Amino acid sequence: MKNLILKLEKENRLCKEEWMCLIEGRTPELAAFLFERARETRYAHYGKDVYIRGLIEFTNYCRNDCYYCGIRKSNTCLSRYRLTEEDILSCCSNGYELGFRTFVLQGGEDGWFTRERMTALIRRIHAEFPDCAITLSIGEREKDEYQEYFDAGANRFLLRHETANEAHYRHLHPVELSLQHRKECLWDLRHIGYQVGSGIMVGSPGQTAEHLVEDLLFLQELQPHMVGIGPFIPHKDTPFKDEKAGTLELTLFLLGLVRLMLPKVLMPATTALSTIHPDGRKMGILEGANVVMPNLSPQENRKLYSLYDNKRCMGDEAAEGLALLRAEMEEIGYTIVSARGDALLDTEQEG
Ligand code: SAM
Repeated sequence: MKNLILKLEKENRLCKEEWMCLIEGRTPELAAFLFERARETRYAHYGKDVYIRGLIEFTNYCRNDCYYCGIRKSNTCLSRYRLTEEDILSCCSNGYELGFRTFVLQGGEDGWFTRERMTALIRRIHAEFPDCAITLSIGEREKDEYQEYFDAGANRFLLRHETANEAHYRHLHPVELSLQHRKECLWDLRHIGYQVGSGIMVGSPGQTAEHLVEDLLFLQELQPHMVGIGPFIPHKDTPFKDEKAGTLELTLFLLGLVRLMLPKVLMPATTALSTIHPDGRKMGILEGANVVMPNLSPQENRKLYSLYDNKRCMGDEAAEGLALLRAEMEEIGYTIVSARGDALLDTEQEG
């Protein structure tokens, strides 16, 4: 089994059977070996640097009804909000003062933010903060719309594929949504020139080891610049309220595997990971992640951007708690840096 990890480290790819063998046959000893190799690889490309992204959750309105998500349109228990352009710009100013050089605009698929409004917003952020990267995480759109946002100044886009298996995708989403369209969006974004992030929830209801292998093979093909991997956590007002959360153990194992498959990838230690375990973020960084995304949204809105139960959004998960985060990273020998932290491209990823 260690041979497979060494092969992955050397060739950055495995076949279906080999991935399966690693995931199904994993042991604590194998995981320790994987993490050691993943740490080495991360160190070779990024040293001990940890990049920060300021997360602005600008709307919790969503036209979609994903069964796992707390902001799905059928959740009538949730108060809805959307930030104004001024609110969003003021989040960026706060973030800039604190040292953030990437702003991540994340939200549900909210029709109020029309193409015109989004374009105007991106132009304004780009004009006022020209040295910052703008990351969008606003779901599925048409290619020309993505192009317009790119031309207006957006540089990066996060769109998790959620699962690469058709049947599993159906289990997680209503019929209006399709895996094929989600994948097309990812390819469109790549072709336009965005730095693209994809990813999955670990332990989402119905997920099997075979599904995870399909996810890894899809990521191997897509060669994204960023990968978001966090545990699924149930939300009390969704159809999946009684399902179990994904585990820390499997999430960390996958972070390690992805680091070896995509050595230069930007990978966050997610808020969901620190929600299921108080040391989740530190462990994520130690086992292969190199990004954290503290919350820059106005404090009164953070709890309302409620994707899952007990989301952490204060203290070291908050932008204003950066000193705590810095200390926490220093404890494990890592350093928060203010740089934009663009993806390190290699020939294959540029293609
Ligand atoms: N609407 C955009 C989209 O579809 O990409 C961005 C917002 S969406 C809420 C961001 C991510 O939250 C999703 O890609 C999903 O993986 C994650 N998420 C939603 N519900 C979750 C849950 N219950 N547990 C963990 N992660 C969840």
